[in-house]
Amino acid sequence: MKAVQYRTVGGHPEVVTVPDPEPGPGQVLLKVTAAGVCHSDIAVMSWPAEQLPFPLPLTLGHEGVGTVAALGAGVTGLTEGESVAVYGPWGCGSCAKCAEGKENYCLRAGSLGIMPPGLGAPGAMAEYMLVDDPRHLVPLGDLDPVRTVPLTDAGLTPYHAIKRSLPKLVPGSTAVVIGTGGLGHVAIQLLRAMTAARVVALDVTEEKLALARAVGAHEAVLSDGAAAGKVRELTAGLGAQAVFDFVGAPPTTALAGQLAAVEGDVTIVGIGGGTLAVGFGALPYEVSVTSPYWGSRSELVEVLDLARAGAVDVHVETYGIDEAPLAYERLHAGKVNGRAVILP
Ligand code: NAD
Ligand code: ZN
Repeated sequence: MKAVQYRTVGGHPEVVTVPDPEPGPGQVLLKVTAAGVCHSDIAVMSWPAEQLPFPLPLTLGHEGVGTVAALGAGVTGLTEGESVAVYGPWGCGSCAKCAEGKENYCLRAGSLGIMPPGLGAPGAMAEYMLVDDPRHLVPLGDLDPVRTVPLTDAGLTPYHAIKRSLPKLVPGSTAVVIGTGGLGHVAIQLLRAMTAARVVALDVTEEKLALARAVGAHEAVLSDGAAAGKVRELTAGLGAQAVFDFVGAPPTTALAGQLAAVEGDVTIVGIGGGTLAVGFGALPYEVSVTSPYWGSRSELVEVLDLARAGAVDVHVETYGIDEAPLAYERLHAGKVNGRAVILP
C-alpha cells in the first residue's frame, strides 16, 4: 500500500510503498478514509535526532478516520465497513488516568513504549492503518468523514482546553484565540457553541482573519505590535478571562500573558518553543498558565456529538495521497486556511 512517511531526520515527507498491515490479536485494521495534516508533524520533523522520541521511518497522520476492514483475533463489537474515528493519544488502558478516559495522560505509556499513531506508531496517512484496541475507535454514524477527521485533534485539543476554562467564560467575558489555523478556527466555533463569551481572534494575515470572522469570531485583530493595546481597548482595559495560544511561539506566549485579565487563564496549546514566566508581578494577579496535551476519550465523543448537532463546521482543503508532501509544504508556508486533509 501507499504511505506517507517521515524517513530521515531533517527530511521531507515522502510517499512510499510499504507492506499491507494485518491485524494481530486485539487489533483493528481500518481502510483509511481521510487523514488530517497537523502543524505538530512539522514541529516533529524539525527536531534533531536526539529529541525524536521514536525511530524512523514513521508513517505520518495522527488524525484518522476509516472504515473497519478486518478484526484481529478476539475483537468483537465492530462491524466490517463501519465508519469510525481514531482516538489518537493511546494509553495503557488500565492506569488511574486511563481509567478516567484520560489516555492522553497515561502514566505508563512511556515505560511501555505506547505511542500515538503518526507520532511513533504507524499513522493514518496510508491506505490502511492498524488500531491497537477497539476502545480507541468512536463510531461516526452519518458524520461526513472528511470534514470530521480534523476533530480528532484540531477539535479535541481545543475542546479540552476550553472545557477547563468554562467556569471563567461567563456572559460578559472575553476569550482570545491566538492563531486561527487548523486548531484555532475550530476553537472559535467551540467557544461560540459552549460559552456566551465574546471571542477575539488574532492571526497574521487578513485571509486567516476573514475565516476567523466567518466561523464566528466577534472581533478579528492582526497579531502585531498593536494587538495587546487593541484587545485591552476591546475589553475596557480589563483583558481576557481566557487566552488560548495556538501558536506557542515566544512572541505569542508573551502576548498571551499581556492579554490575560486578573484571575484569567492562559492556555498554551501551540508547541512553538515559547514559555511564560510566572511570579509576583510577572502577570496580572492570579493568572493561571497551563499547557495541555490533546484530550480524553470521553471528550472526543463529546466533540463528535457537537458536530452532529451542527455546532462545528471544519474548513478543509483535500489532497490525494501523492499530494501529501505539497499539503505539508503549504501548511509550513502558512497557506492552508482551515485544515488540510489527505484522502488516501
Ligand atoms: P496551523 O498552522 O494550522 O495554525 C497556526 C496559525 O497560527 C496559522 O493560521 C498562522 O497564520 C498563525 N500564526 C502564526 N504566527 C502567529 C502569530 N505570531 N500570531 C498569531 N497567529 C500566528 O497549525 P495547527 O495545526 O492549528 O497547530 C497549532 C499549534 O498547536 C501548533 O504549534 C501545533 O503543533 C500545536 N498542537 C498542539 C497540540 C497539543 O496537544 N498541545 C495538539 C495539536 C497541535
Ligand atoms: Zn494508562
